[in-house]
Amino acid sequence: MHDREELYVNGKWAKATGTEKIKVINPSTEEIIGTIPVGNLEEVDYAIESAREAFNYWSKSKIGDRIEILNSLAASLKERSEEIAQIITSEVGTPIGYSRTAMVGTPRVVARSYAKILETFQWEEEVRNSLIVKEPIGVCAFITPWNFPLHQIIGKVAPAIAAGCTMILKPSKEAPLSAFILAEILDEIGLPKGVFNLVTGHGSEIGEYLSAHSDIDMVSFTGSTGAGIAVSHAAANTVKRVTLELGGKSANVALEDADPILVGKKAIQACHQNSGQTCSALTRLIIPKSMEEEVCRVVTERNEKYKVGDPLDEETRCGPMVSEKQKISVMNYIQKGIDEGATLLSGGVGMPDKLTKGFFVKPTVFKDVTPEMTIWKEEIFGPVLVITTYEDEREALDLANDSIYGLSGGVWSKDEERAIKFARNMRTGQISINGGFFNVSAPFGGFKASGNGRELGIHGLEEFLEIKSIQR
Ligand code: NAD
Repeated sequence: MHDREELYVNGKWAKATGTEKIKVINPSTEEIIGTIPVGNLEEVDYAIESAREAFNYWSKSKIGDRIEILNSLAASLKERSEEIAQIITSEVGTPIGYSRTAMVGTPRVVARSYAKILETFQWEEEVRNSLIVKEPIGVCAFITPWNFPLHQIIGKVAPAIAAGCTMILKPSKEAPLSAFILAEILDEIGLPKGVFNLVTGHGSEIGEYLSAHSDIDMVSFTGSTGAGIAVSHAAANTVKRVTLELGGKSANVALEDADPILVGKKAIQACHQNSGQTCSALTRLIIPKSMEEEVCRVVTERNEKYKVGDPLDEETRCGPMVSEKQKISVMNYIQKGIDEGATLLSGGVGMPDKLTKGFFVKPTVFKDVTPEMTIWKEEIFGPVLVITTYEDEREALDLANDSIYGLSGGVWSKDEERAIKFARNMRTGQISINGGFFNVSAPFGGFKASGNGRELGIHGLEEFLEIKSIQR
């Protein structure tokens, strides 16, 4: 059991004063694997005061000290990587192999990338008679989700440390345990007190309070579009900077010269990774009518073989949904797809064969999906791929852009230039050409209702900076 009773504020662990606890559930076994405390608003106030106090010196700290902290953070994440991967698998249900790479490996590389960026980052420039100076924005609040819990935290904490900001983190209640390990690591490696503070509790209470607080200079939120809107409303009166990383319903487009077998083979993993609980998942597959039969055959074969089950089994590709609520929501979407007339190619409602407990769903594929259907429009956040066909490239582009979201995307073509030309017309923040890999140094973020602001790389650092012009 991981029973956490303390919050980490002003460089110290202190028992939370309230008695309410949140249970952390293993979604594969439905067992309680830990508890975390619910902080109260006095504790949040103390965290904000501590961060405000710490900002006075951390904002002026030596760049070399920040580099050292970020490198030590990366090294400690490496040392504790198996422990963290196991914990995240037990709270999110992520297959263990993917947990090791995406849930721990990626955040470690992101932490190190900011140490590297600081080595050459230009804090000042001259423009005619002006000296332009970049300064840390101040005290930041971070509100994060459960699906890539540590990655989404490090995507904020590492650039904030690099920028000279101080921070209060409120992680998700479904998967909060890695945040406690992060606080232990930051304490051990000597991050000065008050720079990083951890307060756990309910988003609607602590999250909104932090967003509205006049002593918070910036709120960086990752989560659902609904909660992101609530954060923006709460933050509006104080005119603080708000960055939002929200949902998606991303298009994966095969152009007419693409290899249908390759498209079909890659489409399942691009949609179902992390059991479909990935904001940037490519959930809408858009293919030429002439390719339909072949792509659907390959996709169906792949989906049938996509092994669902115990995430600790190295062979498993798809774990459970994070919670019962999420499982019911995904199953309802699958039922809606059937009711609204899409053709079920593979999967369906109900538990996968041979599984009797855990929040599992069947990896599912639909074809004949039209833009009026709910499963075309809404983010399902589960392993559900929807396929539609087009007659010409203009229609393919209209279909790709037919979403309130714009977080990610994919384009397939034998001609890379042609694919890039198509990608330039997609209204979305990240696009992978022919399966191009995720790059931790490239900006990540959304167009439209997928949010605003960018994380990762230099662009992610600049979100934490104010710009001052000094004329002489
Ligand atoms: P969520 O919005 O329910 O919760 C996210 C965080 O916000 C949690 O810490 C929660 O406690 C807090 N919160 C909830 N209501 C709040 C409120 N009214 N005010 C302030 N904070 C509040 O999202 P989730 O279910 O944890 O995560 C899934 C969603 O996150 C999906 O929509 C997914 O697409 C999105 N997501 C986006 C990205 C991205 O980078 N764009 C990354 C991961 C997840």
